[in-house]
Amino acid sequence: MNKFKLLFKIKKTVSVEFSILADTFYKMESTRKRLELTQYLVELFEKTPQEVISKIVYLLQGKLRPDFEGVELGVAEKLAIRAISKSSGIPIKKIEDEYRKGGDLGHAATVILEQKTQTTFLVEDITVERVYETLFKIAKLEGNRSQDMKMKYISSLLNDASPLEASFILKLLLGTLRLGIAENTVMDALAIAFSGNKENRKILEHAYNVSSDLGKVAEVLASEGLEGVKEFKIILFNPIRPMLADRVKSEQEAIEKMGSEFAAEYKLDGERVQLHIEGDKVVLFSRSLENISSYYPDIIEKIPKTIQAENIILEAEAVAINENTGEFLPFQELMHRRRKYKIEKAVTQYPITVNLFDVLYCNGKSCLELDYKERRKKMEKVVKENDFVKHIPMTIVKNENDIEDFFENSINAGSEGLMLKILDSPYQAGSRGSHWLKLKREYQNELGDSLDLVVIGGFFGKGRRTGNYGTLLLATYEEDEDTFTSICKVGTGFSDEDLDQLYQILNPKVTIKKNPRIDSEMESDVWFEPELVIEVVASEITLSPIHKAARDKIRKGAGLALRFPKFTGKMRIEKMAEDASTNEEVITLYQGQKKVAHDKSLM
Ligand code: ATP
Repeated sequence: MNKFKLLFKIKKTVSVEFSILADTFYKMESTRKRLELTQYLVELFEKTPQEVISKIVYLLQGKLRPDFEGVELGVAEKLAIRAISKSSGIPIKKIEDEYRKGGDLGHAATVILEQKTQTTFLVEDITVERVYETLFKIAKLEGNRSQDMKMKYISSLLNDASPLEASFILKLLLGTLRLGIAENTVMDALAIAFSGNKENRKILEHAYNVSSDLGKVAEVLASEGLEGVKEFKIILFNPIRPMLADRVKSEQEAIEKMGSEFAAEYKLDGERVQLHIEGDKVVLFSRSLENISSYYPDIIEKIPKTIQAENIILEAEAVAINENTGEFLPFQELMHRRRKYKIEKAVTQYPITVNLFDVLYCNGKSCLELDYKERRKKMEKVVKENDFVKHIPMTIVKNENDIEDFFENSINAGSEGLMLKILDSPYQAGSRGSHWLKLKREYQNELGDSLDLVVIGGFFGKGRRTGNYGTLLLATYEEDEDTFTSICKVGTGFSDEDLDQLYQILNPKVTIKKNPRIDSEMESDVWFEPELVIEVVASEITLSPIHKAARDKIRKGAGLALRFPKFTGKMRIEKMAEDASTNEEVITLYQGQKKVAHDKSLM
């Protein structure tokens, strides 16, 4: 830090120097080892006063608030570059050149600010609180003058920041901070720092699963200890992390895993919705815990009349229907509701039904500990069915025949297959396991399953596709590295309408430079922020010298690629990029496919 800065710093009361956080970020960026990452976090948490811990936990995850509050930073690269120029006096062109040379904009800023020509003498402390509050103000800005105000806030921070601090402020602003830590690592470190025992993570996990707010869990832990965390209860209008299912390939496999008697429900092909209801107040959350209330004004209006309880949290699949026949329509029909304006028109044009499959909370009490049978009974008791709200079709099955019959019925009704559920299982929030299994109709592809892939690049279309992206470059998620590894290009399966829609969605995600989390040797015409997930099927998985998915895992120097990939028509808008198919899953499919080939050769 420069001498003048030290001399003229204005001291404030309780605060944590942002440099402490920046140093930790710096150290964390240089390792992928979970133990080391955990240790850096433990050291950081031990130095953190309880007033600031929630902010630090959010910032570590590149957030300002829990996801469900929808506070998004969204500062564009161009604006950040202008702000760096303003605060350093260095021309925009020079900053852009530095940025193109390598690294990311945060890194470029470090290099640039080392050469800073303007000196500020009287500076205000850069504390975690100040950075957090300023980022928060930026996130809340809207309207015409918001760009100018954002510039002002950003350059005021950069003015007072050291080059290293500036680099991390920018990474936070641009959403490019990647420390390679999953929530589990943060919870491990919190457990060690505040209780001396990593095993206590389980207590934190439970609190996190019911509140979806890791910052709050950390705050309660720091102020009230583990006893406080144990008291965590479901809060109406704060989403609960959803229970997820394992997949099975056959009725026989399901019986092997579930035993002699279990529930089978239709697996409808819509959007998972968590409904929080009290009187006329209704808030809806998606599978990734985003607030999606604005897309479903019909649910908000109609659901309260069906509820015979003071308050309740339900889970349902919202499914588009053909109003005349009542038939279920595929998921993509719901895409029409993903709009900010004229939503009323979409509601009448694309009607839905709400198909309830679980109750998580009722009359002020958690239902998570109740077993499946009791929850289903309660749900049927307190929610009256009508044309709009239904209980998802369910039956108890005892053998393969029962499952097959119900499976047939479900497919004929337009569903994707079945969800199979153990009768005496509680609701395991936030976890995937074999208490719920999904048995899907086989897709028309030899792999036996579809893949959810992240769109990372685009190629401009020719002929009829001019003006759109004709082909997309797709990636899997590499969990260990927290990167997106290229797996194929896809150019088939798109209708003209799909291409238009994709262009609308993808265009705002175009970046000047490839996001550092993208791992691809293949070049594309444009790079996108890795955010959109789409579903594809393929005929085969093959070894590839170019693609980076599962590189070196099967054979040294080779990755895996999809042969004849095809878009299924489904944009998985409810999924985050980190929910996409992982390399581990692709390896399992690759090995399964080899086994089938081997078995066939023996026949
Ligand atoms: P994940 O298993 O991670 O959710 P996914 O979205 O690819 O991944 P799917 O194969 O679509 O998983 O199956 C799970 C989803 O099925 C649920 O998230 C929910 O949206 C939907 N679903 C449909 N019917 C039911 C049901 N009866 N019970 C539970 N979920 C159902």
